[in-house]
Amino acid sequence: MTTTTRCAACKYFRRRCSSDCIFAPYFPANNPQRFVCVHRIYGANNIGKMFEGFPEQLRGNAIECLCYEAKCRIQDPVYGCVSIISWLHREIHLAQTQLAKAQAQIALLDPGVEVAITTPR
Ligand SMILES: [Zn+2]
Repeated sequence: MTTTTRCAACKYFRRRCSSDCIFAPYFPANNPQRFVCVHRIYGANNIGKMFEGFPEQLRGNAIECLCYEAKCRIQDPVYGCVSIISWLHREIHLAQTQLAKAQAQIALLDPGVEVAITTPR
C-alpha cells in the first residue's frame, strides 16, 4: 500500500501533487492554514511566479517572509506588518529616552563618572 501526501497547496486546489511541485517543500500538508493565508493575500499564481524569480537557496526565507506578511495583513488589513514595525520603533524610542534619563541622573549624582550620553533619534 502506498500513501501519497499532497502538499497543502495541492490539497487546497484538489489536485495531484507531483514530485516536482514547487509548493511541497514550503507548504506541508500538516499546516494548511499557512498556505491559505498566503494564497488569500498574494494568490497562488503570483507566489509561483515569485518563486521562479528567487534563487533556490533563498526560497525558504522568502516564503517565511511572505507567510509572515500575509498573516499580519489578515490580522491588520490596513497596516499589515507595518503596525508591528511602528510599534517596535516606538519601543526603541521609549527605551532610548529612558536610557538617556538614567544616564543624566547618574551624571548628576556623580559628576566624576563619565557616562556616554546617548540621545534618541
Ligand atoms: Zn503540491
